[in-house]
Order: sequence, then structure tokens, then C-alpha cells
Amino acid sequence: MSGVKVLRISVTDRCDLRCIYCMPEAGVPLVPMSEMLSYEEVAAVARAAMAAGIRRFRLTGGEPLARRGVVALVGLLAALKPDDLALTTNGLHLADFAAELKAAGLMRVTVSLDTLRPERFEAITRRPGLERILAGIAAARAAGLGPVKLNTVVIRGVNDDEVAGFVRFAAAEGVDLRFIELMPTSGLTPECKELGAWRPALFVKGEEIRARVEAAFGPLERLAENGGVAAVYRLGSGQRLGFITPVSEPFCGGCGRLRLGPDGRLRICLFDRGGLDLRKMLREGRAGAAELEAVFRAAFAAKTTWERGAIESLSSDMFRIGG
Ligand code: SAM
Repeated sequence: MSGVKVLRISVTDRCDLRCIYCMPEAGVPLVPMSEMLSYEEVAAVARAAMAAGIRRFRLTGGEPLARRGVVALVGLLAALKPDDLALTTNGLHLADFAAELKAAGLMRVTVSLDTLRPERFEAITRRPGLERILAGIAAARAAGLGPVKLNTVVIRGVNDDEVAGFVRFAAAEGVDLRFIELMPTSGLTPECKELGAWRPALFVKGEEIRARVEAAFGPLERLAENGGVAAVYRLGSGQRLGFITPVSEPFCGGCGRLRLGPDGRLRICLFDRGGLDLRKMLREGRAGAAELEAVFRAAFAAKTTWERGAIESLSSDMFRIGG
């Protein structure tokens, strides 16, 4: 484990989109509010994480902007003076919240968007809203929540014909684009009638996405810089592009992420099915600063020997622990 230490905090499992590869149309059994960490509990965990050397936080979900009062949580975390405080969002509510989030201390946002075509957007997310998301991206930039990152999952036969379009869009809008390989998460179940079970036929390798970019825009140069879990490349135009390839080129050695679920479970990996129940510790009075700090140190130590297993064994609910 050589990567920069990051705590990804999933603040809710609720989401207002139903992306075909992530959450079933009918939704999912949700964690009851009483079993979700309060913002004060999250802040206590984050404080201990900082004592154990984590200086970067990312809020995710579900959809983090769908949990009421999330701006207050941003304020609590910003008060800890981390080096980085970011948020990953579907962008639907970003135009409403961008200025408030910035004022509360948020530093930057990543927006997930898989198509630039309105009809296709509704087919993928099963909800309307592309215009709102585009307005949200603009609002985030205007509020100073940049550099805004755009994450695009590429799926064969669904949106893989938009690779070049996304590169042009990112250049025109001044956002950092990252293409992500589709992972066989539990959203991809037989009940997911649009995609069926995880079918390798849907999967587009990072290498193929890069080839498509090169065919349209010329050679990509690999940069040495560490883009977190993304490999960063540059086009002749100077535009930088990230590729996140958990399936074809696993990046475990460069992953310094821990994940806190909305229910207070701390996981060391997307493949970690169990995790440690911090909510129980907190509510039983066994989570003082020293105990929590020890938990974080042990979690990082466990990551050094962790073997994630085959990608097909990924069982994580992305909608719950936030990708
Ligand atoms: N609602 C927020 C958002 O839209 O970014 C945060 C949570 S969402 C689960 C985080 C990321 O996980 C999104 O970029 C989404 O596309 C990605 N994701 C979900 N399921 C995935 C899968 N099967 N393969 C690859 N990425 C996936």
C-alpha cells in the first residue's frame, strides 16, 4: 500500500438516480436513519482518522447531496483542516448547493456522468436530469470547486460511442475527464433487466478506450504523476485524461483508500465484505480518540497484506459504499 491515504465517507445509501449498472429500478433496502452515523459521529471518526495520518476526505454515497444537511457535515470536516475535502456526486443538486458547499469548506467535486445525450441519459439513469447536471458542473466551476472532475463509466453498446465526445466536452468545459471500467457490482444482477447479469460483453478495457481516444485525437503520453487510482495521460493538445482500470489493470498497490459506510462500517477495500462496525463501538462508548486511532492504524496495516480476489468476487454494493 503506497497510495495517499484517503477516507471515503459514504453519507447515505439513498440516491435519486437508478443507474442501470448500479442500483435496481425498485431501489434497495435502505439503512434505517437510526442506524446511520450522525454527522457528529462521522466527524469523530474523521478526527481519529487524521490522528492516524489520513489528511484527505471524500464524501460519497448513494448520493451525498440527497442527505439532508450535508453542508453541515462539510463544515464539521473542514474545521479539522484536512489537506483535501472533496465530494463525488451525480450532479443533480449541484447547482443548488455549489456556493454553500464552497462556503462551508468543500475544496472540489467529482461529477459522475455517462452520457451527454438527454434520451440516453434517461435510459441509463432511469430518471431525467441531464440539463441540471450540466448546470451543476458550471455552478461548481463558478463557485471555485475546481478542478472539477468528470467520471465516466464506459459500457459496450450503451455509451462506448461517446468516448471522443466526452474528450471534446471536457476540453471545452475545462474539466478533468476520467474513464472508468465497468465493474461487476451487485447492481448488475439478473433482476437488472437492462443489462442482465454481469456480462463480460459489456466490459470495455481501459486499453481499448485509450485506443479509441488515440484514433480520434492522436497519441497519448503516459504521465508519471499520481492521479490517485487513475493512470494519467496527456494528448498532444495538452489535455489530460485519466483511466481507472480496476478490472484490467488492478491498482491495489497504489490504493490508500479506506471506506466508511453510512452505517458506520469501516472497510479496507471494495472487496471487503465484512468491515468493522464503528457505529457499535461509538454507541457502546468504546470509541474514544485513542481507540479509533488504533482502528485506523490497524486498517492500514491490514491493507498491506490484503488480497482482493478475482474481480468476479466483488460483491460490494456501489450504491452503499460509494465506488
Ligand atoms: N452518487 C454519487 C455519484 O454519482 O458519483 C456517488 C456514488 S456512485 C455509486 C460513485 C461512482 O461509482 C459513480 O461514478 C458510478 O458511476 C460508479 N459505479 C457504480 N457502479 C459501478 C460499476 N458497476 N462499475 C463501475 N463504476 C460504478
